[in-house]
Amino acid sequence: MRILVTGGAGFLGSHLCDRLLAEGHDVIAMDNLITGSTDNIAHLASNRRFQFIHHDVTNYIYLKGPLDAILHFASPASPIDYLELPIQTLKVGSLGTHNALGLALAKGTRFLLASTSEVYGDPMVHPQQETYWGNVNPIGPRGVYDEAKRFAEAMTMAYHRSHGVDTRIVRIFNTYGPRMRLSDGRVVPNFVGQALRQEPLTVYGEGKQTRSFCYASDLVDGIYRLLLSDENEPVNIGNPAELTIHDFAQVINELTGNPAGIRFEPLPVDDPKQRQPDITKARRILGWEPKVDLRTGMTQTVEWFRNQLAVKD
Ligand code: UDP
Repeated sequence: MRILVTGGAGFLGSHLCDRLLAEGHDVIAMDNLITGSTDNIAHLASNRRFQFIHHDVTNYIYLKGPLDAILHFASPASPIDYLELPIQTLKVGSLGTHNALGLALAKGTRFLLASTSEVYGDPMVHPQQETYWGNVNPIGPRGVYDEAKRFAEAMTMAYHRSHGVDTRIVRIFNTYGPRMRLSDGRVVPNFVGQALRQEPLTVYGEGKQTRSFCYASDLVDGIYRLLLSDENEPVNIGNPAELTIHDFAQVINELTGNPAGIRFEPLPVDDPKQRQPDITKARRILGWEPKVDLRTGMTQTVEWFRNQLAVKD
């Protein structure tokens, strides 16, 4: 297949490009580089089946030649990023998704939307199944991301129902691994950066809120299976192993031998109290489940961040 990955220079987008190339496909990565980086795809520069286009998908997307699939991954994805870029976040979820769907319709391609567990907001149902409609504050600071993604899902289903576009929607839960930006503000880069500098880890609130972390290679595998499936309705992909942020901090300090402990900071507005994917559907229809446990994945991630910091020093 010839496949377009929007956000292809981002953390997940670039891992997807690697996987798609390894599967023998031709890949075009498109990115405006506001949160992505060419560092993530530099190793692909000499690959003749790979092409990078510097473009902001909130503007009309022009692409020459046939196309078989579009994976729409362009968007700021960290709370810090979308608080700094609220309008860009809303625009890429709305206008960007519209443009990408328009291209899918024009070229007759399959379309896969990167959606998110944030569509469930601060969930009243636990663990979260795809049938849950969510609990989102539309006017809160996080609303720019949550509502953009909810709109993107609605737009994707509308193109599917009205225009017959062959669509997929993946709801991605917290994911981590190499190529996360050290400064992106999410808990994994924050904690690992702090631990490697032997600083106390900044636990927000009392650290009682929970998350469930999925390693990037597991996530990409689930997404690739979904792309090849015929499921048009949303599918959760994530690792159901749930833990509190306080316990997560202990794991990081233990893995890195950081003696500095933790430090409490205020909880951000609308921070979800609990999050765990119900992956019954992914197991059933994709035969997928995560394979990499937290300690294994975090050990590799810590190693990657250690090298990043060494390069910067
Ligand atoms: N968090 C924290 N310390 C940090 C960064 C994040 O305690 O330095 C918490 C945050 O409040 C949230 C969880 O870790 O409860 C995950 O935050 P992240 O920004 O990674 O993603 P989210 O799941 O909130 O989108």
